[in-house]
Amino acid sequence: MDRHSGSVFIEGAWVPARSPDRYEIISASSEERIGVAPLCSSDDVDAAVAAARRAFDDPSGWANWEPERRAVVLERFAETMDERGPEIGRLVTAQNGMPISLSSASEAVTPGTLLRYYAGLLRNTPVEAERPSASGGTTVVRRAPIGVVAAIVPWNFPQTLTFYKLAPALAAGDTVVVKPAPETTLDAFLVAEAAAAAGIPPGVLNVVSGGPETGAALVRHPEVDKVAFTGSTRAGRAIGEVCGRLLRPVTLELGGKSAAILLDDVDLATQVRRMYACTLVNSGQTCMLGTRVLAPRRRYDEVVDAFAGMVGMLPVGDPFDRSTVLGPLVSERQRDRVEAYIAKGREEARLVAGGSRPKGLDKGWYVEPTVFADVDNDAIIAREEIFGPVLAVIPYEDDDDAVRIANESAYGLGGTVWSADPERARSVATRVRTGTIGVNFYQIDHHSPFGGIKDSGLGRELGPEGLASYQHVQSVYLG
Ligand code: NAD
Repeated sequence: MDRHSGSVFIEGAWVPARSPDRYEIISASSEERIGVAPLCSSDDVDAAVAAARRAFDDPSGWANWEPERRAVVLERFAETMDERGPEIGRLVTAQNGMPISLSSASEAVTPGTLLRYYAGLLRNTPVEAERPSASGGTTVVRRAPIGVVAAIVPWNFPQTLTFYKLAPALAAGDTVVVKPAPETTLDAFLVAEAAAAAGIPPGVLNVVSGGPETGAALVRHPEVDKVAFTGSTRAGRAIGEVCGRLLRPVTLELGGKSAAILLDDVDLATQVRRMYACTLVNSGQTCMLGTRVLAPRRRYDEVVDAFAGMVGMLPVGDPFDRSTVLGPLVSERQRDRVEAYIAKGREEARLVAGGSRPKGLDKGWYVEPTVFADVDNDAIIAREEIFGPVLAVIPYEDDDDAVRIANESAYGLGGTVWSADPERARSVATRVRTGTIGVNFYQIDHHSPFGGIKDSGLGRELGPEGLASYQHVQSVYLG
């Protein structure tokens, strides 16, 4: 799909990139070139930010529209995204190898869902509230749009993670420059087309393509008022340093190494199948997964066998086949990285399932779903985020020990607790130091805040808190 090759979306139009450099988008499953996009320079970033600035500063523009008027356009945007949903799902699958059953259930529908949710919130959340002041008068507390937002997105759930930012930012009245990951650029161009078709005014949404340098130019740009980033802890730390120096608000959704805690009364026969979704989904390329499986010592062998059996039954293969559960990894680089961790795991622990490339798949960056047993929580494969289909099963003695091990991590993003007794599981869950945790399941709830603590990031997306992070609060003291 080269229909915009050479161009980027600025001020409501496809304009030739100033940078002469290009990069190819390579399919994770066929290894074929499926697109080309500009490697945008700081000049391209300047043009996009200037357009967003003009749109934001326009006295009769988006930021100053009545909330109802913005809500109507957001709902139209939801419709134009829904219309493109099937194409978006296929495009995401072609680029990053996400199974089509997953991309059509997440990437194809989440944009519309989030746009409608934030349109509703916009209607129901007054932007001004009066309160009695300490001196006996009145103070008006206003939630004003924050300004020009730089949204930087990774490749693993590219549409979902774009709209975690875009939907609340647009609802708040901000203007946005989106920079997708180079691996998944093509679906971001479809977002721009859908925005134009929906009547999002020129300059309110701009898309520039490129890699880390393009992102860095955006982060440090003097006219950007807020940075919203999802990606690795390493890049997040670098972005956070720049934003700290500039005193620029920033939301960082970073990596994870969460714990899936199986309490000693867990019903393995019925629960283990459900654990796939919170330990391995998208071939382990999902930030909140519980890739440290904490198993009670007295049932350790049983848990290891159950996980080895579960991963052995997962269909691995062509991501366009509806029966496929695990597709390839996103890139050759990512597969190299995951295979290096598997090699490390062979030294540190006992391999009980997977560990190789699946047979019969000659094209595409596949890795078998892999389980290591007898893993120490201090091992590298237990400490570092692998971002591939690799699980570490760690033994524990009692509930306190499980909580201790879960909390002995640099990260704190997701997690689950599994038990026949939901009350007991809930009480263990609240002792785990993490931004989100599920009891006998895990599903991100768009109506509630999502994000991490420690090395997993700063701030929250989604829910009313997600909207608030795109507003600044102003107190007007009435005399
Ligand atoms: P990455 O950090 O390399 O890149 C993410 C995005 O940031 C890309 O668009 C990239 O071009 C850009 N970027 C990279 N360095 C930058 C810099 N210094 N300044 C500005 N932009 C920069 O991550 P990735 O390899 O694309 O994604 C995988 C990582 O993302 C994993 O560690 C995963 O845990 C994390 N992730 C976290 C969440 C979450 O919500 N917490 C969600 C998805 C992925």
